[in-house]
Amino acid sequence: MAGLGERAYAAKQVFDWIHRRGVVDAAAMTNLSARLRARLTEGGLAPGVVVPERVHRSADGTRKIAVRLRDGALVETVLLPAVSGSTAEPDADAAAADDEDDDGAASSPVATDAPRTRVTQCISTQVGCAMGCVFCASGIAGLKRHLGPEEIIGQVLLGRSLLEEGEDLRNVVYMGMGEPLNNYDATARSLRLLTHPDGLGLSTRRVTVSTSGLVPEIGRLGADFGGTVALAISLHAADDATRSALMPINRKYPLAELMAALRAYPLPKRRRITIEYTLVAQRNDDAAEAKKLAKLLRSVPVKINLIPMNPIDASSLGPPARDRVLAFQKVLTDAGYSCFVRRRRGDDVSAACGQLVLIGAKPKVKGFRAAGETPG
Ligand code: SAH
Ligand code: SF4
Repeated sequence: MAGLGERAYAAKQVFDWIHRRGVVDAAAMTNLSARLRARLTEGGLAPGVVVPERVHRSADGTRKIAVRLRDGALVETVLLPAVSGSTAEPDADAAAADDEDDDGAASSPVATDAPRTRVTQCISTQVGCAMGCVFCASGIAGLKRHLGPEEIIGQVLLGRSLLEEGEDLRNVVYMGMGEPLNNYDATARSLRLLTHPDGLGLSTRRVTVSTSGLVPEIGRLGADFGGTVALAISLHAADDATRSALMPINRKYPLAELMAALRAYPLPKRRRITIEYTLVAQRNDDAAEAKKLAKLLRSVPVKINLIPMNPIDASSLGPPARDRVLAFQKVLTDAGYSCFVRRRRGDDVSAACGQLVLIGAKPKVKGFRAAGETPG
């Protein structure tokens, strides 16, 4: 604003319009002068940064939104309402940002009101992804470009505008398309905006960054945010040979380095790192692998989410049989870990990371469900 010769207070007003009211069209910012509105519009503060192209609603209430960006690229964001009546362990992707040391399950700020539904939003940070994980649609597509912070935060503003009656946006997880730490500056800026008290005001511990394990950037994130941003690590294997075969990034940052980075992450007391483990039949689903995992994770406070792989068009890999999943889980729970089997929500509208965008409207996957899960 100083650069435009405006008073500094106008910056506050514009910030409030965008982040609190979700208005990104300068022309609609009625408390600004007409001159400033015109200049901001010229500068690009106009609608169209993120435009919902398709919204797929699945039976479990999950909404997957294909988002069109200004250059025509598509990314996806997903709204995941907590399953009604669920308690301390929220479902699916929300798991990483779980509420274990929070104010109790499904409580409403005003006790007499109808209970409110907590929604977790999953957002993308890149168009495609450079990491090339063999089970991932985004990885197979390759990296097209990074998103800017306005496109990352724009997904959240859009998501908030699509909330339904009784829903509150509670958690944001960076688990959509792309590797957030491979787009560090935009990711960090979006984290600051999401958690800004004058904007959406989410608490950092309700925001989870999921990474395939970029060691230097894990250190940077820990330093920049004092360890308060919740961290999810896509591990998917407990030895280097297995992990490198699934995730090429492991050749650059092998397990010993990754584990050292996790031990060094300045995690606040009582918080844990989420370990994501996508189970791929014949690749990483053996009970022996679970035993190795139990040993590997001993020195780090973690909770483990097992995600049976969602089949994707571009790969013949798939999830293990249910008894294999349960046997794998049992090894870890017997070893004393908190370990849950997650299904990726919205199975009937193509659930795996990046799939909605990459395969268009065509639903492919009929969900694999582990014991104890209710159909969506
Ligand atoms: N790039 C980051 C965040 C996006 S991917 C990361 O890899 O952590 C979010 C999660 O979805 C990761 O744990 C990833 O391994 C998982 N995922 C990707 N494709 C999947 C598939 N086909 N089935 C199950 N999980 C998948
Ligand atoms: Fe990228 Fe994550 Fe997919 Fe790997 S799993 S290719 S890091 S988006």
